[in-house]
Amino acid sequence: MLLPVYLDYNATTPVDPRVLEAMLPWFTEHFGNAASRTHLYGWTAEEAVATARKQVAKLLHANLKEVVFTSGATEANNLAIKGVFEKWSYKGKHIITLATEHKAVLDTCHHIEQLGGEVTYLMPDPHGLITPKQVADALRPETILVSVMYANNEIGVIQPIREIAAVAHAGGALFHTDATQAVGKLPIDMVEEGIDLLSLSAHKLYGPKGVGALVVRQGVEITAQMDGGGHERGRRSGTLNVPGIVGLGNACELAQREMGTETQRLALLRDRLEKGILMNIPQTFVNGNTPQRLAHLTNICFEHVDGENLLLSLKDIAVSTGSACTSASVLPSYVLKILGLSDDQAYASLRFSLGRFSTEEEIDFALQHVVEVVERMRVGSAV
Ligand SMILES: *Cc1c(COP(=O)(O)O)cnc(C)c1O
Repeated sequence: MLLPVYLDYNATTPVDPRVLEAMLPWFTEHFGNAASRTHLYGWTAEEAVATARKQVAKLLHANLKEVVFTSGATEANNLAIKGVFEKWSYKGKHIITLATEHKAVLDTCHHIEQLGGEVTYLMPDPHGLITPKQVADALRPETILVSVMYANNEIGVIQPIREIAAVAHAGGALFHTDATQAVGKLPIDMVEEGIDLLSLSAHKLYGPKGVGALVVRQGVEITAQMDGGGHERGRRSGTLNVPGIVGLGNACELAQREMGTETQRLALLRDRLEKGILMNIPQTFVNGNTPQRLAHLTNICFEHVDGENLLLSLKDIAVSTGSACTSASVLPSYVLKILGLSDDQAYASLRFSLGRFSTEEEIDFALQHVVEVVERMRVGSAV
């Protein structure tokens, strides 16, 4: 067992050794530019990209022509929101999103506001969920896009995507979802669920960092945000990251094959950890406590514990806290604040996210470590 025990799979995952192996030849031996149409080096690379495109598309029940490779989910979210806004703002300038989105969506929406767009930020209930009715009530004739994340990165709650997409379409708007935390974890069918645009990132599903995709349903027009060469059917210019794309494709294929058994295994481990903490440590509760959440994650608040001390004392596990470091200072998590937590409760919340390489031994160790540390801290402060 490696220390500290890694329980931060929602921040990033290690590359699966099988994915790495598939990537390696594409750095050295098959180094061609996928846009070189005049020789074997280019054709070979182009073929590898085509295979990866199929692997990504298959996982989402999409068409391979719909996959636009990007540098990750941040870029995919930018391309989706800015690309729709630039293309469709002559029809309307209103966008609906969720207050608990990832910064890659929120900051992009703030940029849209700078450009003269109007954005409605829907507030979720205390568990982090929104209803299709909230979306319906926010729709206006000039709404062009509804963007709602599939599963939240901090608390794991899963939004009613299919119903929200239907409401968006009934109101004449496109539907985008940041599915970065859901792809490879939950079965997704873009056609059946009515998703027009979907963002994903390789490094959240055992692929490499710096590669991802925006999947754009056929017939959905967006304006490219990167010009120069017209790669990816004119939707995202730039020489393709062939090894990264091969890695993403392989990661998607593995996820598709193993999702069912992996989810079951991780749900058992997560429940063991969560129940263990709730039963052994008084004054703890789960943030985003709804059955509608990811199976591999739990976000727990340890009341009356100093958040900073807690993290410093938990030396043997790697987890995230309910704080976000900005350049200037440490702020409480805006997601937890929106759920109604106080600053102190947010600081004293820990996100445990498990993954493919988590073991029973690690979970039992982590549980014991957390119980000991919190007990020691509570005695120390006599609460
Ligand atoms: C990690 C993450 C992102 C950012 O993805 P990158 O590929 O690192 O840019 C966006 N949205 C969500 C929900 C995430 O978890």
